[in-house]
Amino acid sequence: MHDDLLSVAAARAIVERSVVPLGSEEIGIEHALGRILAEDVVAPHPVPPFASSAMDGFAVTAGPAGRTLRIAGEARAGHPSRKSVRRGTAIAISTGAAMPDGADAVLQVELTSRPDPDHVTLSDDVAPGRNVRPAGDDMAAGAVVLRTGTRLGPAELGVAVSAGRATVRAGEQPSVAVVATGDELADPGEPLGPGQIHNSNAITLAGLAMHAGARVFTVTGAADTLADTEEALAVALEEADVVVISGGVSVGPHDHVKPALERLAVEQAFWRVALRPGKPTWFGHRDGTLVFGLPGNPVSAMVTFLLFARPALHALQGAPFAQPTRTARIATPVARNPHRDEAIRVSLRTDDQGTIVATPTGPQGSHILSSMVAADGLALVERGAEPLPAGAPVSVEPI
Ligand code: AMP
Ligand code: MG
Repeated sequence: MHDDLLSVAAARAIVERSVVPLGSEEIGIEHALGRILAEDVVAPHPVPPFASSAMDGFAVTAGPAGRTLRIAGEARAGHPSRKSVRRGTAIAISTGAAMPDGADAVLQVELTSRPDPDHVTLSDDVAPGRNVRPAGDDMAAGAVVLRTGTRLGPAELGVAVSAGRATVRAGEQPSVAVVATGDELADPGEPLGPGQIHNSNAITLAGLAMHAGARVFTVTGAADTLADTEEALAVALEEADVVVISGGVSVGPHDHVKPALERLAVEQAFWRVALRPGKPTWFGHRDGTLVFGLPGNPVSAMVTFLLFARPALHALQGAPFAQPTRTARIATPVARNPHRDEAIRVSLRTDDQGTIVATPTGPQGSHILSSMVAADGLALVERGAEPLPAGAPVSVEPI
C-alpha cells in the first residue's frame, strides 16, 4: 500500500525533467544581486590593472637598511608620479598608488625617519617586491573569473565590476503566483473569528520564492469550494511561470485543488511522495507552466517547497537543479519511518574535531512552524526499520 509512493529522489527527477530554462537578458549590475549568470565573465585586463603599493610609505629600489634618499616626488591613489625612482631617490607613495618607474619595492612609513623635509632614511633592509601588489595579482587578463550558472552575490558583483562590467547577462526570473487555499484563513493582522488561523503560508512561500530568485507577482486566497479554487488557479496559470498552491491537495471532502487543476487541463506528473512531512505533494504542468500543490501544514509547505520548487526555480534561471549538500553527523538518535523518507529540520555547528554536527530543532510536527526558525538545513533521512543512531552521517541541504 505504501509502495506506490514515489521516493523523494524519483519525484525530484520528474520535476527536473519538466524544467525548460527560461531565456536570458542583459541587466545593469546594480539590478543583478541574486541573479544567475547566463555567461562566463572574462577579465579583459589584469586586475589590479597596474602594480601598486600595499602600504603608505616610500617607493624605492631594493637595498640595505640605513640608506638616506632624496624625496623626488609623490604618487597618490589615482595620481601616478611622473617622476621615476633612481639610485639615491625615493618617491612618497600612498596605498593603491601606481608604482613609479624604477622602483621595485615600498618601505612602509613606520620604518622610515625624516632627517629633513626633503630626505628619508630607511631603517630596514628592502627586498625586491616588498609591499608591491603586482598587476594581475587578483585576476589575470583573459581569465574566466565567474562561470555561467553562478548566483551573483555581493562578492560576485564586485568581481564583475573589477573585470570591467557595468552589465551582465542573467537568466530571466521566473514569475511565481502563490495561491493559498482554505476557508479558515484570515489575512495578516486580522482578528480571528471562530476556527480561523492566520494565513502564514502565503507570506512564507512568497519569501521562499523570492529567495530562490523569482518575482512573486500575485498572492491570492481561495475558499474551499471547487468554483473558487478553479477561478483563483485559472488566473494564476494565465500569468505565471510557476504556480505554488498551499493546502487543499489531500483527499478530504473539502480539498478541491486536484479536481480544479484537472478541469484546467493541468497534467498531473505525480501526487504523493514517500516523504515526511509532505506526503500529499502534487506536481504537474500545463504548457510550460509548472504547478506545485503543497500541503497546507506550514512545515510541510516549507519543506516541500525547498525540496521540489526551489530547485526548479533555480534551474529555470539556468542554475543547477541539484542543491548543494553537506554531510553531517546527527547529534541525537532519530527514529526512522519504515515507509517514508524524512526531512528533519536541523541546526548545524562544527565541533572541536571539525565535524559538522546536525541537531534536530525540537518537535518535528508538521504544524510546528517555529521548528523552522532555528533550522539551518534539512537532514534527509531515508526510510528504514532501524533508528538512526547518534553520530550517523546524514546529508543536509542548507535552507
Ligand atoms: P490542508 O493541506 O488544506 O488540509 O491543510 C492542512 C493544515 O494546514 C490545516 O491545519 C490547515 O489549517 C493548515 N493550513 C492550510 N493553509 C494554511 C496557510 N495558508 N497558513 C497556515 N496554515 C495553513
Ligand atoms: Mg485546507
